[in-house]
Formats: sequence, C-alpha cells, structure tokens
Amino acid sequence: MRPRRVVTDRRGGRSVAPYDSFNLGVHVGDDPAAVAANRARLAAGLAVAEDRLCWMTQVHGTGVVVLDAAPEGPVPHCDALVTGTPGLVLCVLVADCVPVLLSDPVAGVVAAVHAGREGLRQGVVPAALAAMAGLGSRPADVQALLGPAVCGPCYEVPRAMQVQVARVAPAAAVRSRTGTPALDLRAGLAQVLTGAGVRQVVHDPRCTAEDRFLFSHRRDGVTGRQAGVAWLDDTPRAVPAATRRGPRDGYG
Ligand SMILES: [Zn+2]
Repeated sequence: MRPRRVVTDRRGGRSVAPYDSFNLGVHVGDDPAAVAANRARLAAGLAVAEDRLCWMTQVHGTGVVVLDAAPEGPVPHCDALVTGTPGLVLCVLVADCVPVLLSDPVAGVVAAVHAGREGLRQGVVPAALAAMAGLGSRPADVQALLGPAVCGPCYEVPRAMQVQVARVAPAAAVRSRTGTPALDLRAGLAQVLTGAGVRQVVHDPRCTAEDRFLFSHRRDGVTGRQAGVAWLDDTPRAVPAATRRGPRDGYG
C-alpha cells in the first residue's frame, strides 16, 4: 500500500469551450455527459474503478469528512476528505485555489484539501491534519504537495483582505506584478504546514492564471476545473503501459 498523488490539467477531455477540455467539475455549467466521460477517463488513467472516485461539494470552509467507504454522490458541504482506507480515491476540484494533497505513508492516511484564500484564513489545512491524526497520523510523517494555483504576482487583492490572511500566515502577503497588495496562497499554506510540524512540503510551481494548460477562474471566469487526487494504492506496483497515457502522475 502506498500513497499516490496526481494533478490533472485541461488536456485530453471531451468538454467544449469554455470548459475545454478535461473539465472534471459538474457545478460549472458544462454538459454533464462530457463531465461524466472525463471522469471515466480519469478513473481509467489512474487504473481505479470509477465508483471509487470521491468528490466534494466544496464551500470554501473548513469542513473535513473522514471516509471509510465510497459516498453516494459528492460529499456535501466540505473542503477536505481524509481516509485510511486503500482504494478510496479522494478528489479536490480547483481553478486557482490550491489543491493540497497530504499523505502519510507510515500511518497509511491520505487527504485531499481545497485551500483557497478563505480556506487558508479559516484553517482548513490544520482541520485536515487533525482528522488525519484521528487515524493515527503524525505531522512529522506527512508529505504535503501544494498543487498548481494562482501565483502571488497574479493574485492582487484589496489590502484589507491581504491583512486578514496575513494574520494567519504572514508569508502569504506579497506584492502583485504591479506592486499592489497580493496573496501567495502556497507560501501561506507552506507556512501553516511547517508550523503544524509537517517537514516535507513540495510545490507544483505552475500558475493557473499563466499556464494555458490549466483552468483559471481568475483569468477566464466561466471555465472548467482540474483535480488534485490522493489515494492509498493497494494494487501491485507495476502499472500496465496502457494506463500510463492518462492524467499526469508526477508525484508518486
Ligand atoms: Zn501567476
């Protein structure tokens, strides 16, 4: 059993503009049949059964749900999923917010967290770590991946908003490209994780607003969502060649 982490991008799916093409969000106005086809492709690419994919109805809060079985439909009103059950595939949808994928290979616990500005400010990552601790995980054993998100120079905000977030994570307060107040969500989240005792934090440095292969709500308004995915893989290590063509798996 080993923790796996994957981040998708917008290539290779069935959706048409403005959701082109690998949109995994059902809540953004896309054709449900196209999203269903895309989700089936995700499952095939990960070599997991589609009914093992666990989705959330995300609300920019701190709700955490611990799963030990696949839910019927999206888990309502939460922003983090945690499991110690192998084969449950936890998915977080994003298009500028940070997909935070947490894995503890010692305790055998993983989490997928939706952390935007409000999630950072309200503490969704500490809430997820607390739920992981309830399953026997220690922060020192947790590996964190901060996935693609809007970068600091691209994320201008009103000064009052910057101050609010900086109270929780001073490292998030940066300047935009034009010198105005801005937020670097990943820098803030890394600070929160380190403060909680997590020693292994890696960044996917891609900026959603700058990278055309990624969905960005800030850049495009109506658009699709990519996914961050975390699960405990209980299948043999060798992956058949036919399954390697799917969504990018750059993180083990
Ligand atoms: Zn940027």
